[in-house]
Amino acid sequence: MLIGVPAETMAGETRVAATPETVKKLRAQGHVLRVQSGAGVAASVPDALFEAAGAEIVDAAGALGADLVLKVRIPSEDELPLVRKGATLVGMLDPFQPAGLQRLADAGITAYALEAAPRTTRAQSMDVLSSQANIAGYKAVMIAANQYQRFFPMLMTAAGTVKAARVVVLGVGVAGLQAIATAKRLGAVIEASDVRPSVREQVESLGAKFIDVPYETAEEKEAAEGVGGYARPMPQSWLDRQKAEVAKRVAQADVVITTALIPGRPAPVLVTAEMVQAMKPGAVIVDLAAERGGNCPLTQAGMTVVTHGVTIVGLTNLAALVAADASALYARNVLDFLKLIINKDGALHVDMEDDIVAACLMAHEGQLAAQRRK
Ligand code: NAD
Repeated sequence: MLIGVPAETMAGETRVAATPETVKKLRAQGHVLRVQSGAGVAASVPDALFEAAGAEIVDAAGALGADLVLKVRIPSEDELPLVRKGATLVGMLDPFQPAGLQRLADAGITAYALEAAPRTTRAQSMDVLSSQANIAGYKAVMIAANQYQRFFPMLMTAAGTVKAARVVVLGVGVAGLQAIATAKRLGAVIEASDVRPSVREQVESLGAKFIDVPYETAEEKEAAEGVGGYARPMPQSWLDRQKAEVAKRVAQADVVITTALIPGRPAPVLVTAEMVQAMKPGAVIVDLAAERGGNCPLTQAGMTVVTHGVTIVGLTNLAALVAADASALYARNVLDFLKLIINKDGALHVDMEDDIVAACLMAHEGQLAAQRRK
């Protein structure tokens, strides 16, 4: 089968959906790999390395015109006409954006959005949300440390003692846990909040303190359990108490990393404008939820702003700032997913009995998968 790996065209997207490692493995399975010239350059993979792994270097039309197209982002309106009717597309396709998916269905493409995979043990090796959020959590701390004009660790020097930075992490999923682990390695003192009770143990095991906001009603407790491992919107009563606890910590904090998300909804506001006003001058907020409206209303997506002496970083694609490793992990996720949609004869098939395939399928035979299921 002909497998194409186009260069990404979205602004700031530095990742690539295959690496020489995954190209070699797909070649060994008997497939022909066509990689667009320059596709890996921003991720430190020059064409020569793809060629050495057995890929043909082609132009955009050559890569997008394959039977199976491996992408990071959903094809743009310029790219889409180059994808063949009946071709299969695998990528991060924004499953909560119906307009984009409709375009894929209208183009007759069989499309799989890897973000829609269930958070189950079997799906772990193809979990792109985890592989990329892990990187974003790490990079958020690196960016914060870079912006912050003081040390992270406590230091005792001949010139006096420097206090450790106080870091507050709001939202402790994959990104938040990695942010805690990274800040800890740098010597910070960390406190963290999440709605899900199971998070407490994970936070404490990393040497951070969990900000306790007890559940007072059955409704609060039930909402906090979430669904499928994801958070649900919490009752206002709990959010008000969380806000009071978080406000105290944020006022003392040197660095705040926010990662709180609820699937398919705008990000919850956790750091209000008043809280920012009460922060110490020189403090830094890195808002990983910027793309979904931000956990702070003063965050500007894609920008770094200084308000009341506080630097607020709203960069939206932090994984792309660690392009080589982000691509390496993403490409392995893709490779693992391909095992579910390529049969032992090396041909594509749509196996709706497979829960991961069924969850990721967004469009097939001219229809949105959601319509087909009705
Ligand atoms: P996410 O990116 O959807 O959300 C980030 C975090 O924000 C979550 O922990 C969420 O609970 C939290 N949050 C939402 N509203 C909040 C609020 N008002 N205040 C504080 N925190 C708030 O999460 P994710 O990183 O994708 O992880 C989601 C879940 O999936 C987690 O339970 C994770 O452990 C689980 N997971 C399971 C697997 C697996 O079993 N294969 C793999 C990865 C993740």
